[in-house]
Amino acid sequence: MIIIKNANDIEKMRIAGKIVGDTLRLLEDSLRPGISTYELDKIAETYIRKSGAIPSFLGYGGFPGSVCISIDEEVVHGIPSKTRYIEEGMLVSFDVGAFIGNFHGDAARSVVIGNASEEKIKLLEVTRECFFKGIEKFNEENRIGDISFAIQQHAESFGYGVVRDLVGHGIGSEMHEDPQVPNFGNAGRGLRLKVGMALAIEPMINLGTHKVDFNQEDGWTVTTRDKKPSAHYENTTVLTDNGVEILTL
Ligand code: MG
Repeated sequence: MIIIKNANDIEKMRIAGKIVGDTLRLLEDSLRPGISTYELDKIAETYIRKSGAIPSFLGYGGFPGSVCISIDEEVVHGIPSKTRYIEEGMLVSFDVGAFIGNFHGDAARSVVIGNASEEKIKLLEVTRECFFKGIEKFNEENRIGDISFAIQQHAESFGYGVVRDLVGHGIGSEMHEDPQVPNFGNAGRGLRLKVGMALAIEPMINLGTHKVDFNQEDGWTVTTRDKKPSAHYENTTVLTDNGVEILTL
């Protein structure tokens, strides 16, 4: 069931979204060689709580951190760790959620640190572009498949792999609401888009194969099957009478 948001709901989602966007900026500013992913997680958690919100991911399905921190071949759902340190050249993806006023915000960024390879830099640029190609299609003329197709087409034009096993989603008082928003699909297919829909659009793009593996040991981390890097870019968005609004920039 798709829950349509009214103006009052959207106002509350702006508040949650702003906290998420600010937290991501803080994480990017805090990133340096030698910092542990645990420390980064604590910086984010402290900021989210100080803002009056609750970290959406902490305890979600038992997830032990406030931020998913996924490095290089890790696609998503990396667990913050006291023994995992940031190094020059890494591609680091942060995924953050905050819950306040009964609404969630959810967004992700990938960044490189120091002297990273050209191919990593290009991958994260294109992943970001994929989001904006997708969101261009978020209007009442279109269907979910138009968003999906635009993302897939852009990524594949660079020879990249579009992750199939994880998708974007509706968002509101629940972090994951209907509908699913795949990053692959056919234009003109799927549900018609409507004012009041709030979607977390989140391309997950791999340098190599689209295939991924789910870590059986920690139960969370998703990695590329070929161990090549992956990037992630996500925002919470909502379609209003005045067009699409990105809530987590
Ligand atoms: Mg999400």
